[in-house]
Amino acid sequence: MDFATSECELVYADGDMAGHGKKEGIGERFDGFMDETAETDKFLIDAVEHCVKDLNMDKDDLLFELANGITGDYYPTPSRCLTNTEAILNEFLVTALFNGKEPEKGTDIFPTEGGSAAMTYIFHALNHNRLLKPGDKIAIGTPIFTPYLEIPDVNNYGLVPINVVSDEAHNWDIDEEELNKLKDKDIKAFFLVNPSNPASHALSSHTLDALEEVVSENPDLIILTDDVYGTFVEGFESVYSRLPYNTILVYSFSKLYGATGWRTGLVAMSRDNVCDHLLSKLSEEDKKALWDEYAIAVPDPSSMKFIERLTADSRSIGLYHTSGLSTPSQIFMDIMALSHTTYEKDEYIELANATVNERYIALMDALGIDKDLSGENAEYYTIVDINAMIGEQYGSDFAQWKHENISDLDFLNDLAQKKGVVLMYGPGFDAPEGSVRISLANLYTEDYVEIARRIRELLDEYYTEFEAEALQEAA
Ligand SMILES: *Cc1c(COP(=O)(O)O)cnc(C)c1O
Repeated sequence: MDFATSECELVYADGDMAGHGKKEGIGERFDGFMDETAETDKFLIDAVEHCVKDLNMDKDDLLFELANGITGDYYPTPSRCLTNTEAILNEFLVTALFNGKEPEKGTDIFPTEGGSAAMTYIFHALNHNRLLKPGDKIAIGTPIFTPYLEIPDVNNYGLVPINVVSDEAHNWDIDEEELNKLKDKDIKAFFLVNPSNPASHALSSHTLDALEEVVSENPDLIILTDDVYGTFVEGFESVYSRLPYNTILVYSFSKLYGATGWRTGLVAMSRDNVCDHLLSKLSEEDKKALWDEYAIAVPDPSSMKFIERLTADSRSIGLYHTSGLSTPSQIFMDIMALSHTTYEKDEYIELANATVNERYIALMDALGIDKDLSGENAEYYTIVDINAMIGEQYGSDFAQWKHENISDLDFLNDLAQKKGVVLMYGPGFDAPEGSVRISLANLYTEDYVEIARRIRELLDEYYTEFEAEALQEAA
């Protein structure tokens, strides 16, 4: 930021006013400005060198984009994504989410105001461009982040949801029978969160193989995968890198970097993708209607790709020329991405994973529940089946009594009011009755031990009630 400001003053400075920077020689000035012995400067020097050497970027061009972007003195140009930024984000996706696999046709990226905006824009653009029509069946991988259950519903998109269920018995993976539902060509789209929220499990590589099979029988299926938690699973592989043609990817920097306030996420799509194919197959009537709308923004809408339409739609088409994520936010995304890609090892990600792992183990041990330490478990959230826990630890008679006398919501209310612990209601995510979701992202390890202690304390109180009633009945 200091360097970017000095660049502005270089060209023009009058009182508190300064000009735009200039590209010529900016690389050399950057080298002169930075202090190798300061930690932050050293990272910036290394990151720029990495981009120039490994991503073949022009140093002046890159630094001009970074400096201009951080000062935010131009509209985002190109609107969808700054040029070097797109390459930086691409490298991040390949190493962090695609297990090193580079999609053959290349990936277009649209940075957005967080994953939430990405989702909103995608739902809207699919509907608006008639790729999903009222009455179309869409498959939803459940349990899932609640808005995914609600958005298709509340916006009157008229979509018919079909649940593709994963459960604890299958280690929160999707079994073949459920996956086979997607072979039905009437199912136009499949929405999933992977690794899932709330169950926090990634699809196994076996399931990814099976998904590839299924899609070969329903080749026009649109898959929307939200991989916000991907980096919490070592060696994670996105559905996108297996099926780039069919898949729209949503990623957010919010969770890994604890940066929800920045609102930094993205939409990524292969340059060769099913949405563009489906646009070309629309009826002449639909094409004409859309052509008329997009013609206010571009000279020839017939060649306008879906991801560009999505960008235009994010500003009601009319304001396409001022669309795009704020440039300082894009540059901040570059910095987060480069902190992962610049060096051989990303110590931050390792620390983040170790941190949630430690909390998970502390919680499960304190609850006396079996841990799942499989590679697919992201351990960012966990679903705890309280009823199953009661059955195992207090016996089936008490489990039956609890089932008859205390509803799931009573339990959550009691836990909140008497014990000061607020947990999320599992069925709200389409998870089983009697389950709760516990986030491992927000508190310190000892807090999770305390949460477990209070849950057990409440259950013990119920048990005392149950025993008293049993005594009364016996008397
Ligand atoms: C938190 C979350 C989001 C929202 O991400 P933002 O970038 O904060 O908007 C999207 N998807 C899932 C699955 C999430 O858990």
